[in-house]
Amino acid sequence: MSGDTTESPVLIAGAGPVGMSAALALNARGIDATILEADPEDRDRSGSRAIYVHGSTLRTLERIHPGLGTDLVDEGLVWPTRRTLFRGTEVFSRTYDSPGGTGDIPHFTSVPQVVTEAYMHDALAEAGIDIHWEAEVETVESDTDGVRVETADGREWDGEFLIGADGGGSTVRKEIGANFEGDQSENSYIIADVEEVEDDPRELERVFHYDAPAAGGRNVLLVPFTGGWRLDIQCFLDDDPDELSSDERMREFVRDIMGERYADNLEWTSTYQFLQVMADTFIDEHRRVLLAGEAAHLLAPFGARGMNSGVADADEAASAIAAAIDATTDAVVRDEVELYAARRERAAEFNLDAAGQALRHLRGDDPVTVLRKEAAASLADHFEVAGEWLDDAPYGPHGSPPIVSTGNY
Ligand SMILES: Cc1cc2nc3c(=O)[nH]c(=O)nc-3n(C[C@H](O)[C@H](O)[C@H](O)COP(=O)(O)OP(=O)(O)OC[C@H]3O[C@@H](n4cnc5c(N)ncnc54)[C@H](O)[C@@H]3O)c2cc1C
Repeated sequence: MSGDTTESPVLIAGAGPVGMSAALALNARGIDATILEADPEDRDRSGSRAIYVHGSTLRTLERIHPGLGTDLVDEGLVWPTRRTLFRGTEVFSRTYDSPGGTGDIPHFTSVPQVVTEAYMHDALAEAGIDIHWEAEVETVESDTDGVRVETADGREWDGEFLIGADGGGSTVRKEIGANFEGDQSENSYIIADVEEVEDDPRELERVFHYDAPAAGGRNVLLVPFTGGWRLDIQCFLDDDPDELSSDERMREFVRDIMGERYADNLEWTSTYQFLQVMADTFIDEHRRVLLAGEAAHLLAPFGARGMNSGVADADEAASAIAAAIDATTDAVVRDEVELYAARRERAAEFNLDAAGQALRHLRGDDPVTVLRKEAAASLADHFEVAGEWLDDAPYGPHGSPPIVSTGNY
């Protein structure tokens, strides 16, 4: 501490899942970090947002804080069945005997983001890492020696490096002069969490329903997680999402799609228009600031690449900073940070393209896509591969970015 300035090797803006993962990943490499968070400690982060946590993310979290990955596995749910319907008729269904695989860490788990974040908070406490609440980053100045940050409460913070994990509206991104480039989805989506009912009669299956009659012909995705269901309704272009997401209308949707018993169990509803954008650079000109997670890229959630790729960013940012802190020449410091940008920008491009493919398939407004879906549905009874294509396509391609990475995304 010098005067009103606090010093820390690494500053992190934002205590979302990415900022918290970055702090844990640095701690695992023996580096202290200071987290600056705009919100107050008693903030409400309701709504589940990310529920699909990929096995590679669980392995990363387990590696950087032993017990964190397995806690999420214990808390999460691995649904065994994937099923797809087309205008009321089943076109694909597959149940796996061992859906998560046989290791300690399954291929995926379904757990609400609020729960993931609660476990990350516990992990930070165990590691002795504090979050500085109500410390909104307002300005960022970097030079070849480090970074100075000013927070809204008038405090100044000096660090060798800064990880900007302050989400989609990132101040850090703006302060380093980076800009988001990309598109916005035209359709709106309504996302709701519905609490499970006693002796829940629904099968534990992920169901996608194209043109679901119970939702007036809109696409519907239903995914179970521990304690409830994620309901995702794709609005038509001329829908008024505010009207459709009103309490009364949502109650009707839930009743018609899931059954009368669930109608009063709505926990949380939100409407989204998804952006598909990434920053034109993930680092500042002096190679001291690294953007990670939604500060660097915003993806449509189909394929669940948002938080999963953000955790991979966090781990790789920590790895680059660890190498840069040990470096004895400025050129190596620059190299390590530039390598981070090269890898994670490439990963973001790949993830954007993958989420974009899913979005285009779902939107389905061009005649070729419409015809392909209808043809596949009519062939699904005879050719499983046609039904499987319909089942798979809403999540985009399965592949991982063409880079050597600790995570799959
Ligand atoms: C409906 C929906 C479903 C999704 N489903 C999935 C899924 O299944 N799987 C998946 O991987 N992803 C999914 N995502 C994406 C996932 O929720 C995000 O990628 C994830 O929350 C991003 O984390 P983050 O830490 O980068 O940003 P955030 O969660 O936005 O956290 C940023 C933090 O920074 C703080 N902050 C903001 N400005 C400042 C500032 N100036 N100074 C200090 N702090 C600041 C904020 O208060 C916040 O705490 C979904 C998203 C949505 C909306």
